[in-house]
Amino acid sequence: MTHAGFADVVTCWVCGGRELRREYDALLDLNVYRDQHPELAAYTGETVWFRKCGTCGFTQPERLPALPGFFDRLYDQLWSPDWVQQEFESDYKDLIFTTILAGLDRRSVVKGRLLDIGAHAGRFIHLAHGAGWMPEGIELNPRTASYASARTGLPVHPVNVEQVQLSGRTYSAITLIDVLEHVPDPLPLLARVGDALQPGGWIVVKVPSGPAQRQKERTRARLHRGYRPRLADNLVHVNHFSPAALVTSFERVGLRATTVEIAPPELPPAHNFGSRASNLLRRSLYLGGRLLPGSVHTPLALNLLAFGQKPS
Ligand SMILES: [Zn+2]
Repeated sequence: MTHAGFADVVTCWVCGGRELRREYDALLDLNVYRDQHPELAAYTGETVWFRKCGTCGFTQPERLPALPGFFDRLYDQLWSPDWVQQEFESDYKDLIFTTILAGLDRRSVVKGRLLDIGAHAGRFIHLAHGAGWMPEGIELNPRTASYASARTGLPVHPVNVEQVQLSGRTYSAITLIDVLEHVPDPLPLLARVGDALQPGGWIVVKVPSGPAQRQKERTRARLHRGYRPRLADNLVHVNHFSPAALVTSFERVGLRATTVEIAPPELPPAHNFGSRASNLLRRSLYLGGRLLPGSVHTPLALNLLAFGQKPS
Protein backbone atom coordinates (compact mmCIF):
# COMPACT_ATOMS: atom_id res chain seq x y z
CA MET A 1 0.00 0.00 0.00
CA THR A 2 1.39 3.43 -0.93
CA HIS A 3 0.87 6.28 1.49
CA ALA A 4 -0.99 9.53 0.90
CA GLY A 5 2.14 11.66 0.55
CA PHE A 6 3.38 14.72 2.41
CA ALA A 7 2.69 18.46 2.49
CA ASP A 8 5.67 20.79 2.94
CA VAL A 9 5.81 23.19 5.87
CA VAL A 10 7.57 26.30 4.58
CA THR A 11 7.26 28.96 7.31
CA CYS A 12 7.80 28.92 11.06
CA TRP A 13 4.52 28.12 12.83
CA VAL A 14 5.42 30.51 15.65
CA CYS A 15 6.87 33.65 14.02
CA GLY A 16 6.31 33.17 10.27
CA GLY A 17 10.07 33.16 9.62
CA ARG A 18 11.42 31.38 6.53
CA GLU A 19 15.00 30.88 7.65
CA LEU A 20 14.66 27.23 8.65
CA ARG A 21 17.66 24.93 9.08
CA ARG A 22 17.65 21.13 9.30
CA GLU A 23 18.56 19.88 12.79
CA TYR A 24 17.56 16.23 13.22
CA ASP A 25 15.37 13.62 11.60
CA ALA A 26 12.46 11.51 12.80
CA LEU A 27 11.72 7.99 11.63
CA LEU A 28 8.21 6.74 11.01
CA ASP A 29 7.59 3.17 12.14
CA LEU A 30 3.83 2.69 12.29
CA ASN A 31 3.62 -1.04 11.65
CA VAL A 32 1.80 -1.50 14.92
CA TYR A 33 -1.24 0.10 13.22
CA ARG A 34 -1.23 -2.20 10.16
CA ASP A 35 -4.54 -3.87 11.05
CA GLN A 36 -6.26 -0.94 12.75
CA HIS A 37 -5.17 1.84 10.32
CA PRO A 38 -3.30 0.47 7.24
CA GLU A 39 -3.22 3.91 5.58
CA LEU A 40 -1.23 5.13 8.62
CA ALA A 41 1.07 2.10 8.63
CA ALA A 42 1.89 2.82 4.97
CA TYR A 43 4.15 5.69 6.13
CA THR A 44 6.52 3.21 7.78
CA GLY A 45 10.11 3.69 6.61
CA GLU A 46 9.71 7.39 5.80
CA THR A 47 11.87 10.06 7.40
CA VAL A 48 10.85 13.59 8.35
CA TRP A 49 13.46 16.27 9.02
CA PHE A 50 12.96 18.83 11.77
CA ARG A 51 14.07 22.40 11.07
CA LYS A 52 14.93 25.16 13.52
CA CYS A 53 13.78 28.73 12.93
CA GLY A 54 16.70 31.17 12.83
CA THR A 55 14.46 33.95 14.14
CA CYS A 56 12.67 32.49 17.17
CA GLY A 57 14.36 29.13 17.84
CA PHE A 58 11.20 27.05 17.38
CA THR A 59 11.80 23.66 15.72
CA GLN A 60 9.17 21.94 13.59
CA PRO A 61 8.77 19.26 10.90
CA GLU A 62 9.82 20.05 7.35
CA ARG A 63 6.76 18.23 6.01
CA LEU A 64 3.62 16.58 7.38
CA PRO A 65 1.74 13.49 6.21
CA ALA A 66 -1.03 14.59 3.84
CA LEU A 67 -3.32 11.80 5.05
CA PRO A 68 -6.42 13.49 6.52
CA GLY A 69 -6.79 12.60 10.20
CA PHE A 70 -3.21 11.29 10.46
CA PHE A 71 -2.86 12.50 14.05
CA ASP A 72 -6.34 11.37 15.11
CA ARG A 73 -5.44 7.87 13.97
CA LEU A 74 -2.04 8.09 15.67
CA TYR A 75 -3.70 8.81 19.03
CA ASP A 76 -6.52 6.33 18.54
CA GLN A 77 -5.07 3.99 21.16
CA LEU A 78 -7.21 1.35 22.75
CA TRP A 79 -6.14 1.85 26.36
CA SER A 80 -7.21 -0.90 28.72
CA PRO A 81 -9.68 0.15 31.44
CA ASP A 82 -7.16 -0.95 34.12
CA TRP A 83 -4.48 1.29 32.66
CA VAL A 84 -6.82 4.31 32.57
CA GLN A 85 -7.80 3.71 36.20
CA GLN A 86 -4.14 3.49 37.15
CA GLU A 87 -3.49 6.78 35.33
CA PHE A 88 -6.15 8.41 37.48
CA GLU A 89 -4.94 6.94 40.74
CA SER A 90 -1.20 7.31 40.28
CA ASP A 91 0.39 10.42 41.79
CA TYR A 92 3.43 10.62 39.46
CA LYS A 93 2.32 13.96 37.99
CA ASP A 94 1.03 15.52 41.21
CA LEU A 95 4.04 17.80 41.71
CA ILE A 96 3.30 19.25 38.25
CA PHE A 97 -0.41 19.61 39.00
CA THR A 98 0.03 21.22 42.42
CA THR A 99 2.70 23.59 41.07
CA ILE A 100 0.23 24.78 38.42
CA LEU A 101 -2.55 25.31 40.96
CA ALA A 102 -0.12 27.15 43.28
CA GLY A 103 1.02 29.31 40.34
CA LEU A 104 -2.58 30.34 39.67
CA ASP A 105 -3.05 31.09 43.38
CA ARG A 106 0.05 33.29 43.38
CA ARG A 107 -1.41 35.28 40.49
CA SER A 108 -4.60 35.84 42.52
CA VAL A 109 -6.79 34.30 39.83
CA VAL A 110 -10.42 34.23 40.93
CA LYS A 111 -11.30 30.55 41.29
CA GLY A 112 -14.04 30.23 38.71
CA ARG A 113 -14.35 27.88 35.78
CA LEU A 114 -11.20 26.05 34.73
CA LEU A 115 -10.85 24.11 31.47
CA ASP A 116 -8.21 21.40 31.16
CA ILE A 117 -7.48 20.61 27.51
CA GLY A 118 -6.23 17.03 27.19
CA ALA A 119 -7.77 16.01 30.52
CA HIS A 120 -6.65 12.37 30.16
CA ALA A 121 -7.97 10.23 33.06
CA GLY A 122 -9.10 13.32 34.99
CA ARG A 123 -6.65 13.48 37.90
CA PHE A 124 -5.81 17.17 37.38
CA ILE A 125 -9.45 18.33 37.24
CA HIS A 126 -10.09 16.21 40.34
CA LEU A 127 -7.27 17.99 42.21
CA ALA A 128 -8.40 21.39 40.88
CA HIS A 129 -11.92 20.70 42.14
CA GLY A 130 -10.53 19.89 45.57
CA ALA A 131 -8.65 23.21 45.48
CA GLY A 132 -11.86 25.18 44.95
CA TRP A 133 -12.12 25.46 41.16
CA MET A 134 -15.08 24.54 38.94
CA PRO A 135 -13.17 22.41 36.42
CA GLU A 136 -14.14 20.69 33.22
CA GLY A 137 -12.10 18.87 30.63
CA ILE A 138 -11.68 18.11 26.95
CA GLU A 139 -10.32 14.68 26.07
CA LEU A 140 -9.90 13.25 22.57
CA ASN A 141 -10.01 9.58 23.56
CA PRO A 142 -13.71 8.76 24.15
CA ARG A 143 -13.05 5.89 26.58
CA THR A 144 -10.66 7.97 28.68
CA ALA A 145 -13.09 10.91 28.60
CA SER A 146 -16.00 8.82 29.86
CA TYR A 147 -13.84 7.32 32.61
CA ALA A 148 -12.67 10.78 33.70
CA SER A 149 -16.19 12.12 33.77
CA ALA A 150 -17.63 9.15 35.68
CA ARG A 151 -14.76 9.08 38.16
CA THR A 152 -14.70 12.83 38.93
CA GLY A 153 -18.37 13.72 38.48
CA LEU A 154 -17.15 16.65 36.36
CA PRO A 155 -17.91 17.43 32.69
CA VAL A 156 -15.34 15.96 30.28
CA HIS A 157 -16.15 16.56 26.62
CA PRO A 158 -14.97 13.75 24.28
CA VAL A 159 -13.84 15.94 21.40
CA ASN A 160 -10.74 16.79 19.43
CA VAL A 161 -9.23 20.08 20.46
CA GLU A 162 -9.19 21.08 16.77
CA GLN A 163 -12.93 20.73 16.46
CA VAL A 164 -14.10 21.95 19.82
CA GLN A 165 -16.19 25.07 19.74
CA LEU A 166 -14.80 26.98 22.67
CA SER A 167 -16.73 30.18 22.02
CA GLY A 168 -19.83 29.21 23.98
CA ARG A 169 -18.33 29.52 27.44
CA THR A 170 -15.52 31.46 29.05
CA TYR A 171 -13.07 30.40 31.73
CA SER A 172 -10.86 32.08 34.30
CA ALA A 173 -8.08 29.56 33.63
CA ILE A 174 -7.30 27.13 30.80
CA THR A 175 -4.55 24.53 31.10
CA LEU A 176 -2.70 22.57 28.39
CA ILE A 177 -0.50 20.05 30.19
CA ASP A 178 1.64 17.91 27.83
CA VAL A 179 -0.65 18.82 24.91
CA LEU A 180 0.79 21.66 22.83
CA GLU A 181 3.82 19.66 21.66
CA HIS A 182 1.44 17.30 19.83
CA VAL A 183 -0.63 19.81 17.81
CA PRO A 184 0.73 20.83 14.38
CA ASP A 185 0.55 24.59 13.76
CA PRO A 186 -0.17 25.40 17.42
CA LEU A 187 -0.90 29.15 17.28
CA PRO A 188 -4.46 28.98 15.89
CA LEU A 189 -5.28 26.66 18.79
CA LEU A 190 -3.65 29.01 21.32
CA ALA A 191 -5.62 31.92 19.84
CA ARG A 192 -8.91 30.03 20.21
CA VAL A 193 -7.99 29.15 23.77
CA GLY A 194 -7.32 32.86 24.38
CA ASP A 195 -10.78 33.68 22.99
CA ALA A 196 -12.33 31.32 25.54
CA LEU A 197 -10.65 33.10 28.47
CA GLN A 198 -12.39 35.75 30.49
CA PRO A 199 -10.60 39.13 30.42
CA GLY A 200 -7.82 38.86 33.00
CA GLY A 201 -7.90 35.04 32.81
CA TRP A 202 -4.79 32.86 32.55
CA ILE A 203 -3.45 30.19 30.22
CA VAL A 204 -1.01 27.62 31.58
CA VAL A 205 1.09 25.52 29.19
CA LYS A 206 3.47 22.70 30.08
CA VAL A 207 5.65 21.35 27.26
CA PRO A 208 9.03 19.61 26.89
CA SER A 209 11.90 22.04 26.28
CA GLY A 210 13.15 21.44 22.74
CA PRO A 211 16.81 22.45 23.35
CA ALA A 212 17.13 20.62 26.69
CA GLN A 213 15.56 17.40 25.39
CA ARG A 214 17.94 17.51 22.44
CA GLN A 215 20.92 17.94 24.75
CA LYS A 216 19.74 15.00 26.88
CA GLU A 217 19.40 12.72 23.85
CA ARG A 218 22.84 13.75 22.54
CA THR A 219 24.40 12.96 25.92
CA ARG A 220 22.68 9.57 25.94
CA ALA A 221 23.97 8.85 22.46
CA ARG A 222 27.51 9.68 23.58
CA LEU A 223 27.26 7.40 26.61
CA HIS A 224 25.65 4.41 24.88
CA ARG A 225 27.14 3.24 21.63
CA GLY A 226 24.52 2.55 19.03
CA TYR A 227 21.84 4.65 20.75
CA ARG A 228 19.98 6.76 18.22
CA PRO A 229 18.66 10.10 19.59
CA ARG A 230 14.88 10.05 19.49
CA LEU A 231 13.20 13.40 19.62
CA ALA A 232 10.27 13.12 17.31
CA ASP A 233 9.97 9.57 15.99
CA ASN A 234 6.50 8.90 14.56
CA LEU A 235 5.91 12.66 14.82
CA VAL A 236 4.61 12.22 18.34
CA HIS A 237 6.14 15.58 19.30
CA VAL A 238 5.76 17.95 16.34
CA ASN A 239 6.48 21.21 18.21
CA HIS A 240 9.84 21.69 19.92
CA PHE A 241 9.62 24.92 21.94
CA SER A 242 12.55 26.89 23.24
CA PRO A 243 11.71 29.30 26.09
CA ALA A 244 11.89 32.21 23.60
CA ALA A 245 9.56 30.46 21.15
CA LEU A 246 7.05 29.92 23.95
CA VAL A 247 7.15 33.62 24.90
CA THR A 248 6.78 34.62 21.22
CA SER A 249 3.80 32.26 20.84
CA PHE A 250 2.01 33.81 23.82
CA GLU A 251 2.76 37.36 22.61
CA ARG A 252 1.50 36.62 19.12
CA VAL A 253 -1.92 35.57 20.41
CA GLY A 254 -2.20 38.69 22.58
CA LEU A 255 -1.32 37.29 26.00
CA ARG A 256 0.74 39.37 28.41
CA ALA A 257 2.62 39.01 31.70
CA THR A 258 4.10 35.83 30.25
CA THR A 259 6.54 33.89 32.42
CA VAL A 260 8.43 30.70 31.58
CA GLU A 261 9.93 28.56 34.34
CA ILE A 262 11.27 25.04 34.71
CA ALA A 263 8.38 22.59 34.99
CA PRO A 264 8.51 20.01 37.78
CA PRO A 265 9.47 16.45 36.81
CA GLU A 266 7.23 13.42 36.74
CA LEU A 267 8.01 11.18 39.71
CA PRO A 268 7.27 7.56 38.72
CA PRO A 269 6.18 5.12 41.46
CA ALA A 270 9.28 4.20 43.47
CA HIS A 271 9.32 0.62 44.69
CA ASN A 272 13.00 0.23 45.50
CA PHE A 273 16.03 2.17 46.62
CA GLY A 274 17.19 2.89 43.06
CA SER A 275 13.94 4.41 41.89
CA ARG A 276 13.53 6.38 45.15
CA ALA A 277 17.05 7.78 44.70
CA SER A 278 16.26 8.62 41.09
CA ASN A 279 13.13 10.55 42.11
CA LEU A 280 15.07 12.36 44.83
CA LEU A 281 17.64 13.39 42.22
CA ARG A 282 14.94 14.61 39.83
CA ARG A 283 13.27 16.61 42.56
CA SER A 284 16.60 18.11 43.75
CA LEU A 285 17.63 19.07 40.23
CA TYR A 286 14.27 20.76 39.76
CA LEU A 287 14.32 22.64 43.07
CA GLY A 288 17.99 23.59 42.64
CA GLY A 289 17.45 24.60 39.02
CA ARG A 290 14.59 26.91 39.95
CA LEU A 291 16.97 28.97 42.07
CA LEU A 292 19.57 29.51 39.34
CA PRO A 293 19.11 32.62 37.24
CA GLY A 294 18.62 31.75 33.58
CA SER A 295 18.25 28.07 34.42
CA VAL A 296 15.28 27.82 32.08
CA HIS A 297 17.84 27.99 29.26
CA THR A 298 20.03 25.18 30.63
CA PRO A 299 19.81 21.39 30.16
CA LEU A 300 18.26 21.25 33.67
CA ALA A 301 15.04 22.61 32.20
CA LEU A 302 13.83 19.44 30.51
CA ASN A 303 10.28 20.75 30.64
CA LEU A 304 8.88 24.26 30.55
CA LEU A 305 5.91 25.76 32.36
CA ALA A 306 4.46 29.00 31.00
CA PHE A 307 1.77 31.31 32.35
CA GLY A 308 0.20 34.10 30.30
CA GLN A 309 -2.69 36.46 30.93
CA LYS A 310 -5.43 37.78 28.68
CA PRO A 311 -5.62 41.58 29.03
CA SER A 312 -8.59 42.87 31.04
ZN1 LIG B 1 10.19 31.29 14.22
